[in-house]
Amino acid sequence: MRKPVSAANWKMHKTSGEASAFVEELRSKILDEPQVDIILCASSTVLFHIGTGPNESAIQFGAQNCHWENEGAFTGEVSPEMILDCGAQWVIVGHSERRHLFGETDEDVARKFSAAVSAGLRPILCIGETLDERQSGSTSEVIKRQLSAVISQTEEEAFDQAVIAYEPVWAIGTGITADTSQIEEAHQIIRDFIMNKDEKLATEIRILYGGSVKPGNAAELIGIEGVDGFLVGGASLSVDSFMEITQGISDHYDKG
Ligand code: PEP
Repeated sequence: MRKPVSAANWKMHKTSGEASAFVEELRSKILDEPQVDIILCASSTVLFHIGTGPNESAIQFGAQNCHWENEGAFTGEVSPEMILDCGAQWVIVGHSERRHLFGETDEDVARKFSAAVSAGLRPILCIGETLDERQSGSTSEVIKRQLSAVISQTEEEAFDQAVIAYEPVWAIGTGITADTSQIEEAHQIIRDFIMNKDEKLATEIRILYGGSVKPGNAAELIGIEGVDGFLVGGASLSVDSFMEITQGISDHYDKG
């Protein structure tokens, strides 16, 4: 069975004091060996403070972006090695805000994915269509194009370490969630696409949903076929709501 994931994307929120307080409170509320992979993706400035704390595996840490080189003249960028050095194991690549606000191309995302894996980081690869793309009927094409860009640049084994997050751009931070059939269909497109390349990988890879997940809809969304957990933005900023969502995932798996 695929171990479910509850991943937080704090975006550009939280100072080191706020992040440390969050981690401390979360640690006090979760079991030593939670049934869910809990990953907090923080800004690079706070990652070192939280990533190098008590060395146990109940909470894992990730960055929200990385460069594809490990060092060099890239002012303002942070490399995969630097992220590892902060005690993080994960990095988000291809988040829609990076693609759409900062102009990252499919090729950039593929290079980041590849560099992250080579450095020993585990990528959370975000893919998803815009509203225009959905309305013009090109959701499937966009998802496959985004996946294909990464697969063509990477050894398939690199995906063993990865998680994919399906995040329709129009559902991120808008309060609008995709409906059950839209999510189920997109997840199936992703798994089928991978199935054509590697059957074992397709059955093992975790595919998350992201887009306005909150305590009130988590229980319903986790029941959708093919959804292995969530990437949560806004609702991950408070320990209570993030815990409630994580608990919802855990309860669903407990029920079998
Ligand atoms: C995200 O930032 O990846 C995200 C899904 O945000 P939100 O949950 O706020 O829609």
